[in-house]
Amino acid sequence: MQVSRRGIRVSFEFFPPRNPDMEKTLWQAIGRLAPLRPHFVSVTYGAGGSTRERTHATVRRILAETMLTPAAHLTCVAATRAEVDAVVEAYAQAGVRHIVALRGDPTGGVGERYAPHPNGYRNAADLVAGIKRIADLEISVSAYPEKHPDSADVAADLDMLKAKVDAGASRAITQFFFENDLYFRYLDRVRAAGITIPIVPGILPVQNFKQTGNFAARAGASLPDWLKARFDGLDDDPSTRKLIAAAVAAEQVLDLVERGVNEFHFYTMNRADLAYAICHLLGLRPNANWAPKLTETEPA
Ligand code: FAD
Repeated sequence: MQVSRRGIRVSFEFFPPRNPDMEKTLWQAIGRLAPLRPHFVSVTYGAGGSTRERTHATVRRILAETMLTPAAHLTCVAATRAEVDAVVEAYAQAGVRHIVALRGDPTGGVGERYAPHPNGYRNAADLVAGIKRIADLEISVSAYPEKHPDSADVAADLDMLKAKVDAGASRAITQFFFENDLYFRYLDRVRAAGITIPIVPGILPVQNFKQTGNFAARAGASLPDWLKARFDGLDDDPSTRKLIAAAVAAEQVLDLVERGVNEFHFYTMNRADLAYAICHLLGLRPNANWAPKLTETEPA
């Protein structure tokens, strides 16, 4: 299939590094992916705000050293409204124009019952409204083609998505999925519920099958048998694993394009190679003007 660059829009998600080695890996990935001119790049926020400073530092450096538009993830777990508002104000002052607003996981981990902070935002919709009160920022939120594990059913999920849109969210990014039919079935229900914002598929190139299994278990995403079979026997064969991962993600993304999708969010895990290859297949080509001139990071 011939895919042209026209009309395809991508974004990349990174997580804030924990040490100098990870910092180097992250900035190598950003350096490689930036010339593809993503619509935005997002930086996650650790559970319970554990990465607050590191998320902020990464977003600030993206603003200072690249032409990229950063989107800062923010959760309302274990924080008062005043604390969350202070983070939003700091972002707005630093020049951040886009927040990915999330409830976040319970502090005791997935599976625990979520209890909002007594003086905090109750859920993601409440957080979106709070952010909008502070500044007119672009807000993206989550969406779950296979239902969020806390939700009684998809209808409850759609009610929450609608509440987030009503509060001011203008884009939803999905949890990763591997069966495209799940996405399209969900999209039909979203549209039938009168929700019109873009529902951007979140694509997770499988860097590490075991880790993907752990993520999927936590996120309530299914891991199809055909996917397991494709990685079967490759535990000690990283180079073949990588080729298979590229093939799997390419197949998924090209099928989505064929069925009318033109916007993708890549969960990069701070690695450029698979996301870069898939973007190449999508017809994206680097523009050298967008290559960031990075200051030195600490040697690894
Ligand atoms: P919401 O949209 O508020 O809720 C999700 C669903 O759960 C809704 O259907 C709602 O009805 C239901 N629900 C919510 N609360 C309850 C309740 N008390 N009882 C019953 N049902 C309930 N996590 C991080 O910590 N940091 C990140 O940076 C981060 N980035 C993410 C990015 C994306 C694109 C996605 C999809 C997820 C991300 N997450 C992140 C994970 C997310 O925080 C968890 O999935 C969390 O459990 C839910 O947050 P939410 O904003 O999706 O929840």
